Amino acid sequence: MSVPAIAVSNLVKTFGETTVLHGIDLIIEPGQVSCLIGPSGSGKSTLLRCMAFLEEATRGTIAINGEVLGFTEDSQGRRERISAAANRAIRAQIGMVFQQFNLWPHMTALGNVSEALKTVHKMSRKAAEDAAMAQLVKVGLEARAGHYPSQLSGGQQQRVAIARALALKPKIMLFDEPTSSLDPELTGEVLNVMRDLAAEGMTMVVVSHEIGFAATVGQQIIFLDHGKVLFTGPPQEVFKKPRNPRLEQFLDTYL
Ligand code: ADP
Ligand code: MG
Repeated sequence: MSVPAIAVSNLVKTFGETTVLHGIDLIIEPGQVSCLIGPSGSGKSTLLRCMAFLEEATRGTIAINGEVLGFTEDSQGRRERISAAANRAIRAQIGMVFQQFNLWPHMTALGNVSEALKTVHKMSRKAAEDAAMAQLVKVGLEARAGHYPSQLSGGQQQRVAIARALALKPKIMLFDEPTSSLDPELTGEVLNVMRDLAAEGMTMVVVSHEIGFAATVGQQIIFLDHGKVLFTGPPQEVFKKPRNPRLEQFLDTYL
């Protein structure tokens, strides 16, 4: 058995009095595409944000390629923060793409993709721009390298955001509704980039209402409802004969 890319164990997340994730257990296999589906408010974004350590879990643990992220927890539930340097190295394995592209408006596509390579990775301007250009080629935007976000379509902006994440050489990519703010005719180009990435063997967790993408590219479907995983399994099991009434109800609204 290989080490899971992500192992989530008894993950609980509360905001004040409200418990949003109720003890999630989940394995994300390396090299696979896992699609996280579920109704609005079921906790998909919160789960993804915990995996990226943008939110701290209240209880439970998340291990990235076998290394515990953020906090260890013993059998008595005592939690201990791991060192900042170690945590930074673990987090660096994760790239994330959001519904909102969050590009810097005053920087070109090339600038957006190369910025962190220069400031965080201390690469020379030339090396950073070469690496950034290679990622723009990959998402089919080499001809748009000098364009500012306002000069790009939503689909192109999201592809720049994907290139920006990929430039940091993550081992795992998390996507939170990457096409939800795009006009329908622009979703295809973003999904195609994600398809290519999957074909290269990238480990991906994708929150999306694009059921077609989940059915054709996803190897594992995870159905989240009210902060609990109600179902995990391959797409043929989910989409052929959903046995869970909540899952069936959910699919009825999206298929
Ligand atoms: P989904 O992505 O599935 O729509 P979310 O993870 O965004 O769901 O939200 C799950 C629940 O957690 C919602 O009820 C939401 O209001 C709540 N929630 C999310 N983030 C916060 C926060 N920072 N503070 C308080 N409640 C939050
Ligand atoms: Mg969400």
